[in-house]
Amino acid sequence: MIRSLTKFACLDCQRVFKRPADATQKVCPRCGGVTYRTGSDFRPPSASDKKAWAVAAFLISKGFPYYRLGVRYPTTLKEAERFVEANADFAVDVSENGKVPVQSPRDRRP
Ligand SMILES: [Zn+2]
Repeated sequence: MIRSLTKFACLDCQRVFKRPADATQKVCPRCGGVTYRTGSDFRPPSASDKKAWAVAAFLISKGFPYYRLGVRYPTTLKEAERFVEANADFAVDVSENGKVPVQSPRDRRP
């Protein structure tokens, strides 16, 4: 059986690691820190793109780890702030990242 892999992002290292999408907490293999499970809409910025990573880190930390919501995710911090306000109902609780569901509980996929 092939286990599907999910992208886990370390916001400190600004890197992404693929790991099996089970319920266990993943630590960053580089720094040993917390990683965040991200959704299929996450397109990790290149390591040198600090601005894009700042937007991604903001969204992920506010409960928007790029689960598929049928929306276009913002690419600037200003847009991201408005996005978080406008989509507050879809935020997931990332404070206990180990319990973050693999997909948004309100996933809008058909
Ligand atoms: Zn790290």
